[in-house]
Amino acid sequence: MRKNPATLEMQKRLSSFSEVSLGLTKEQAKEEAGRCLQCKNSPCISGCPVNIQIPDFIKMIKEDRPEEALKKILEKNNLPAVCGRVCPQENQCEKACVLQKKNMPINIGALERYVSDYASQEQGIIENKAKKDKVAVVGSGPAGLTCAADLAKSGYAVVIFESLHQAGGVLRYGIPEFRLPKKILDRELEYIKSLGVNIKLNALIGRTQTIEGLFKEGFRAVFIATGAGLPQTLGIPGENANLVYSANEFLTRVNLMKAYQFPEYATPINIGENVVVVGAGNVAIDCARIAKRLNKNVTLVYRRSENEMPARAEEVTHAKEEQINLKLLTQPVKIITDEKNFIKEIACIKMELGDADASGRKRPVPVKGSEFNIKADTLIVAIGQNPNPLIPALTKDLAINKNGTIVVDENCMTSIKGVFAGGDITTGADTVISAMGAGKKAAEEIDKYIKHNL
Ligand SMILES: Cc1cc2nc3c(=O)[nH]c(=O)nc-3n(C[C@H](O)[C@H](O)[C@H](O)COP(=O)(O)OP(=O)(O)OC[C@H]3O[C@@H](n4cnc5c(N)ncnc54)[C@H](O)[C@@H]3O)c2cc1C
Ligand code: SF4
Repeated sequence: MRKNPATLEMQKRLSSFSEVSLGLTKEQAKEEAGRCLQCKNSPCISGCPVNIQIPDFIKMIKEDRPEEALKKILEKNNLPAVCGRVCPQENQCEKACVLQKKNMPINIGALERYVSDYASQEQGIIENKAKKDKVAVVGSGPAGLTCAADLAKSGYAVVIFESLHQAGGVLRYGIPEFRLPKKILDRELEYIKSLGVNIKLNALIGRTQTIEGLFKEGFRAVFIATGAGLPQTLGIPGENANLVYSANEFLTRVNLMKAYQFPEYATPINIGENVVVVGAGNVAIDCARIAKRLNKNVTLVYRRSENEMPARAEEVTHAKEEQINLKLLTQPVKIITDEKNFIKEIACIKMELGDADASGRKRPVPVKGSEFNIKADTLIVAIGQNPNPLIPALTKDLAINKNGTIVVDENCMTSIKGVFAGGDITTGADTVISAMGAGKKAAEEIDKYIKHNL
């Protein structure tokens, strides 16, 4: 039988931000590792965007050699404890596992987490000899961190410029503590810094300090990894009412500014008793589960059915266990406010599913005459994010796609020589591991570019 980690008991879950998934015990991990068939062609490896040598590290767990297993993972993945927690393995390595045919793929994510939690983290080797050329990385999310770590391993002097006062990108300000404890992220950041990567915080690139300026400062190449943090709006009347939040603002206030630890942190958030979250991706589910932990009645409104929800299956299960009301096949059409412009109700319409749209999911179609209102004193809009527009808007000669993403060629290079880009800023909102895959590829291409332009 596939071994799944235990979860925190419900009462503790809802009264704290403690991590919900408890991870595998040593015995469970060894037993799970023992199920691996050590397939010769190892389809799991190509299912992983950074190509971790999965059967090798699993064998080491079976043989009770977790430190070696960690070294094996770190050859390819600089953020294993993060990935073991938040990667959608069900759509990647585990989907490719041959045991998927029997609906019992190896729990690769849980094993990766086990190794990174139980084995002492190896510190990187700090090069004493003079560093090679300088490379600038803009943004400290998974794409930027991966590119920086790989370049540092190849001997480059890497500086990450991060506009926020803490590093990690979405891993810091987006994904909540109960899914990704910040001490885990901090530990992995320490590893990356120990490789020699210098992280400059509160450093916004694009306006006073520009991409062009970075070259004048002596950087040989620049990697732009500024993510997709621009919230999409519903575009319905009343959306500017008080206590209507974008998911980004809500998450940043809670996760980065620690609103849930008020008054220890002097940055509370004002939300009412009846919170409605619109959306059904990981972002929406995270917002709903946070609001539940702030002791509110929470309803998730989604215009399609449960089958089409883009969030990870595990997150939807946890949300349902935590008694979040799902209002499916429902579309908000107007926000009704009181005389002081505070949200009071949301006017909605019922939807039904029609033919598949461009995304392959069934298109939601309004049902005539099905209008109804939902009582709400807070609304969190979590229907998607667009690429961060600052660098695209202010950098001369940087080619941009219609959807605001930066254009890159097959070598991750933008329209400006020596300027590379990857992660959500080139793909639109995607996943942690895809961003890491892009960071890894860009590091290889930057290395080749600098060597060819000596
Ligand atoms: C709430 C939430 C939950 C998610 N859950 C999951 C999940 O469970 N699994 C999963 O795989 N994916 C998940 N994702 C998606 C995933 O986190 C992103 O795809 C990934 O973080 C993208 O990485 P990135 O490095 O491209 O950008 P980001 O993580 O967005 O990092 C970009 C960084 O660049 C900085 N920056 C922006 N502009 C500038 C500038 N001009 N100068 C300097 N710095 C700048 C930003 O402050 C930020 O730190 C989630 C996303 C959100 C928002
Ligand atoms: S595909 Fe599955 S069973 Fe085969 S080596 Fe990979 S993890 Fe093991």
